[in-house]
Amino acid sequence: MISKDIVYSKIKDAGNIPTLPEVLLKLLSACDNEDTPLSEISEIVSHDPALSAKILQLVNSAYYGFRHSFSSIDQAVIYLGANTIKNLAVTMSVHQVFSSKRQQSAGNLRPALFWWQSLMCASTAKHIAEKTGATKSDEAYLGGLLHNIGQLILASTFREEYGAITAQKQLGVDLLALEEQYFGINHSEAGAWLVRTWNLNPLIADAIQYHHAPITLIKEAFPLVKIIYAANQLTQNYMELNYTCDACSDLFRMGQNDLDEIVENGSEEVDAMAASMGIVVSTGFNKKEHRETEKDTTQTAEKTIISRVQNISLLTSFLTELVQANSVDEMFSAFERSINILCNFDKVLFFLPDEKNLFFNGQTSSQNPLHSTCSGLTLPLEKSSSQIAKTYFNPHPKEHLIQAGKDSNLADQQILSIFKSSAALPLRLSIKGKAVGVVLLGLPQESCPLPDHVTNLLGSLVQQLALCLHLEFEKRKRAKELHTERMDAISMTARKFAHEINNPLGIISNYLVGMRFKLPEEHEILGDIGIIDEEIKRISGMVSQMQMFSQAPFSKFEQIDINKLISTLIQLVKSSLFARPDLSLSFIPGSDVPLITTSRDAIKQVLINLLKNAAEAMEDGGRVMVRTKKHSEDEPGGNSGVEIIISDTGPGLPDAVKNNLYKPFITTKQNGHSGLGLSIINKIVSDIGGELSCNSTKTKGTTFTIILPITKGDTPLSDLT
Ligand code: ADP
Repeated sequence: MISKDIVYSKIKDAGNIPTLPEVLLKLLSACDNEDTPLSEISEIVSHDPALSAKILQLVNSAYYGFRHSFSSIDQAVIYLGANTIKNLAVTMSVHQVFSSKRQQSAGNLRPALFWWQSLMCASTAKHIAEKTGATKSDEAYLGGLLHNIGQLILASTFREEYGAITAQKQLGVDLLALEEQYFGINHSEAGAWLVRTWNLNPLIADAIQYHHAPITLIKEAFPLVKIIYAANQLTQNYMELNYTCDACSDLFRMGQNDLDEIVENGSEEVDAMAASMGIVVSTGFNKKEHRETEKDTTQTAEKTIISRVQNISLLTSFLTELVQANSVDEMFSAFERSINILCNFDKVLFFLPDEKNLFFNGQTSSQNPLHSTCSGLTLPLEKSSSQIAKTYFNPHPKEHLIQAGKDSNLADQQILSIFKSSAALPLRLSIKGKAVGVVLLGLPQESCPLPDHVTNLLGSLVQQLALCLHLEFEKRKRAKELHTERMDAISMTARKFAHEINNPLGIISNYLVGMRFKLPEEHEILGDIGIIDEEIKRISGMVSQMQMFSQAPFSKFEQIDINKLISTLIQLVKSSLFARPDLSLSFIPGSDVPLITTSRDAIKQVLINLLKNAAEAMEDGGRVMVRTKKHSEDEPGGNSGVEIIISDTGPGLPDAVKNNLYKPFITTKQNGHSGLGLSIINKIVSDIGGELSCNSTKTKGTTFTIILPITKGDTPLSDLT
């Protein structure tokens, strides 16, 4: 325990002795003099714009119920009277002085409850004074308002200790005893000491000092002490739904009717006063309920602010991550992380349409635990009755939450079991009304329906993701267009060069033949001519590749039995490209492959190039397998067609090739290899209306898949037999 002097000097050192505002002091002394004209009071008030505004707000409030509204302070002062003006000024000043953040949050004091108690005690004290005529009502009001001010002083000076006291008080320990145990003084003494430093009427300080004293002592005191004592007891009881007050009947012989009237008027006045003063109070009907309500309100408000601040900073970091994302995978990952941190959702799937807008493909970032499940999540875009497709096509769906059992669409129900959730929320990713895809969120049971702030937050996240995806897709589209333009330009140049080079090459070749004839058979120069001839042939080989690259699209289309064509080709290649004993080549023809209309020469050229590359890549030996199969229109890629799959067990494409797939002049080989092969293959396949894709890994080798379209006139083989 510390001595009183130390406590007071600590309070002073901590700067916790507030001074009353100048305007209040002037007003208090003006009101003390009964002869002060009202015009002087309104003059003092009008020097303080904030106080003037509050007074006008109060006089115009429903509490007073005047028919017309007041716009001048003079009128308001006349209607409210000097005492009410004084009470208002006192309330506002005291609240202002003590409402700094430091004091409000100190020592676990609950500000809303504190101010409600203070205002209620002030108001009931005023009514008791009016009813009994024992003392001036404005002094009673001020005494009531300040009766617990010592708590604020102690709590803001000894924050930790007071926090501990408040906690013990909640367990039922007597507050005054605790204060005395910790500080050697209680809040009644501290409050009185403070008020004495303000040179107010000393009776107010006394009333504060004795508001917890034994009733026997109070009975012998002057009226103001009795009034504050009774008002405090009445307020305490009222908070506990107890409408009696022993002190009121003992000290003033008040009956229950008086008490009912006082608390009713008092509580109405508190509401009006608090509203016009902008003071947050918590109405306390039941102490327990009250405490919880206030705690809840404070906690909710705090939580809201904290979550808003968090949301803003997280949203900013999400946007930064999105802007810096180099791939769709990184965008998905940024979204998944943010949605998890901000909204606590950890089940996310993205559904984006394929290039032809025929299928939805389920996707996630590579880090998402659902990533491996995604490969099987494909839905036809147009034909699906799934909420995913509905959300994609409808900008304003009425009811789009996917719920267990409620939806007959099986794909939707399967999504729920993938999420292991009872509900999933599909959100449209769109930009300027045009859909880019759909995000599906697995919702935990307890989060339905979503609170507004979560919905708004989701809206922002989804919008930003849609924008970034849109930009990425536009970038890809543009890159593809650039590639085509570049290929066209290269093709034109290649054609021109091939033509120009062929002429002199032909002339040189002819001269070499002529020279051979002119020289005697054993002439030493014939060896050199042979070398020149070899090099000329190498140049010719490269030029013919350039010609191939720039050749006009194949135009001779005919109905072809692909299996038959490949079988013949395989026989030829086996004895040439695959003559090495460590290489094997096999063909598995698909049983249901129909005849298709295509270019025989184009297919031959493509297959020979791919098989040649595979054989060349497998320096240490290996196997190549060619397969054919019918491609169903329900599979990704759409439309029915014929698939030709060429797989090898080689070392896989080097990274430089993989990252620049189908770009010309990229080669790892020397001696006359131009690096045009794959780009020629890609061009030919696309010229004949097909699609080429590649899957290559260092461990599993390389697989090229060609999908050739089946056109209307094509015949299923089964119809021919
Ligand atoms: P080139 O054969 O003239 O090098 P291509 O465009 O046909 O040009 O091939 C480019 C490069 O791709 C080759 O140099 C080779 O490194 C790589 N490549 C092509 N096919 C395969 C394959 N099946 N396995 C491994 N690497 C391959």
